[in-house]
Amino acid sequence: MSLFILVDVSFHNFSVDPLSKQPRRTWTYWYVHHVSAISLNNNFFKQPKNWSQPQAILTTSNSSTPWATIQQVARNKNGMNIYKLFCFRNITSTIDRYFLGVNKVHVKYWRYTFPVLAPIERQSQFQAIQLDDNVFNINTMESVASAMEGSVISGRNVAMMVKEKWT
Ligand SMILES: Cc1cc2nc3c(=O)[nH]c(=O)nc-3n(C[C@H](O)[C@H](O)[C@H](O)COP(=O)(O)OP(=O)(O)OC[C@H]3O[C@@H](n4cnc5c(N)ncnc54)[C@H](O)[C@@H]3O)c2cc1C
Repeated sequence: MSLFILVDVSFHNFSVDPLSKQPRRTWTYWYVHHVSAISLNNNFFKQPKNWSQPQAILTTSNSSTPWATIQQVARNKNGMNIYKLFCFRNITSTIDRYFLGVNKVHVKYWRYTFPVLAPIERQSQFQAIQLDDNVFNINTMESVASAMEGSVISGRNVAMMVKEKWT
């Protein structure tokens, strides 16, 4: 059983709300699809029936497909392949165009998948790691490049800053 408690975060006794001073980023959404199917549809990809299927298909920004990437992420015990797609919209109703033998589709809409990577020209465009005395933002790196590794390093850096300050 999981227990989620939503904490209402607010700041008190600051002359200025530390978050309001931070530069904002624009974020991109994705519809993440997981598809259980026998294989990719060779007809759609203009390939012969016995083609050696790629594990990942990446598109460029001028692609006309409603998906940006397709990755084969697993294979079930019953021989079905599991694919992950990052899509611009929900494509469940047309999924048979891209796959053969589809038996399950799961879609999750992620409002904030990753930040739009506009080039950063000035230091002031970075969100601060230290928001105020003894107030740290461990998610600074998420607004520049959203990745688990970055968040782990950022969390570690803040832990070291806190240790330095209080020991
Ligand atoms: C679709 C998608 C695909 C991704 N793919 C990759 C990938 O392949 N590789 C990779 O490295 N990264 C990937 N990322 C990015 C990765 O998920 C993030 O970098 C990482 O989750 C950030 O970790 P975090 O702990 O900072 O935040 P989160 O994992 O978002 O954790 C924050 C937690 O705080 C909780 N929370 C928020 N507000 C409150 C509140 N008020 N009260 C209580 N709890 C609250 C949230 O529910 C959440 O559980 C992906 C992200 C998305 C959306």
